[in-house]
Amino acid sequence: MARLTAISGVGGKLPAAFLLEIEGKRLMLDLGEGPEPGVFPAVEGIGAVDAICLTHAHMDHAGALHLAEDLGNPPIYATQATFDNLGALAPAATRRRILPVNGPAEIAGVTVSLGRCGHAPGGVWFHFAHAGGILYTGDWSVESALLPFDPPPPAHLLVTDASYGDRDTSLTDQIDAIARMAAAGAVLPVPGGGRGPEMIVALAARGLQPRACPQIGREMQALAEDSRSVDAGGRQAMRNFLANPVDGDWRPTDVIVATEANAQAGLSATLLRRLEEGFRFIFTSHVPRNTPAHRLLASGRADWLPWNVHPRRQDVLDLADRTGASRIMAAFVDPDAMPQLGESLGKRLITDRTITLSPVAGHSNGQDS
Ligand SMILES: [Zn+2]
Repeated sequence: MARLTAISGVGGKLPAAFLLEIEGKRLMLDLGEGPEPGVFPAVEGIGAVDAICLTHAHMDHAGALHLAEDLGNPPIYATQATFDNLGALAPAATRRRILPVNGPAEIAGVTVSLGRCGHAPGGVWFHFAHAGGILYTGDWSVESALLPFDPPPPAHLLVTDASYGDRDTSLTDQIDAIARMAAAGAVLPVPGGGRGPEMIVALAARGLQPRACPQIGREMQALAEDSRSVDAGGRQAMRNFLANPVDGDWRPTDVIVATEANAQAGLSATLLRRLEEGFRFIFTSHVPRNTPAHRLLASGRADWLPWNVHPRRQDVLDLADRTGASRIMAAFVDPDAMPQLGESLGKRLITDRTITLSPVAGHSNGQDS
């Protein structure tokens, strides 16, 4: 028997924390904060777990590692790139267990297979062969030109990122729109360990001359060498950009890709303080309340255009069909934002927070909790 419980991450744009009880072990899949600052999973009463497994380094999946104390301080499993991108949040080296970016591995003695998720450098999905297959995607995308998405094996239970609900516009169209708006100069804030390097490459391919903040520059250097996360074409694009360094102060007429995503830190925060010089901000990701980005947008002094880093409605449906999943949990999304997706998934969609799977594929029960 296996049991999966959504501690947090279903019913809204909430931090990820899924407890998988399998083969006598208890695995916490992700342990995040946010996206709204200060929102944490309620881990009281869960007790000790055997491992914390991180899909990628973003705050809403890895930002609550301090809660590991309440879970018995177990080892933390993630890929090397994820640990590298955790920065100050990274656990002590003695508690780290390195996972491959794809292929088989063991977590606390439980066999798992992993694949690249196309969402963040070193980001992975987890697949457990138990009970007809259990797939936890974390965040994922099939649209990245830089980060590959490895197709997962069949799974009876699919817990999938559905952040965008019914959104179905393509990243290609979105980049065209951003390139047009940014052409006269723009600051494009991005999260660390995220879309920054890809944004540089995509805007350069559309004839702009984007500049990278120091952190994005370092990420591009790392990706240029990372043959496990990035294919040869992507690594060459990184090297091409890095071969032409541009010095000098930042100007409002520059196209600047800069961390952090909500102008709360990094070069984007620095340039926000120089707003009166004419810097124009274009935000492209979910903007939490109580952030500088939110205040700037609310006052009408910045623009927002989408840049897909999560699956579109059709991508979720394709994954559901490809895995053959008969039970599907839609994560990180407000149910009101996915009426069409919900209708298409029909009876496959689970609304319970806990699902119990028998060892025989195809037998499962939703349980209230
Ligand atoms: Zn993410």
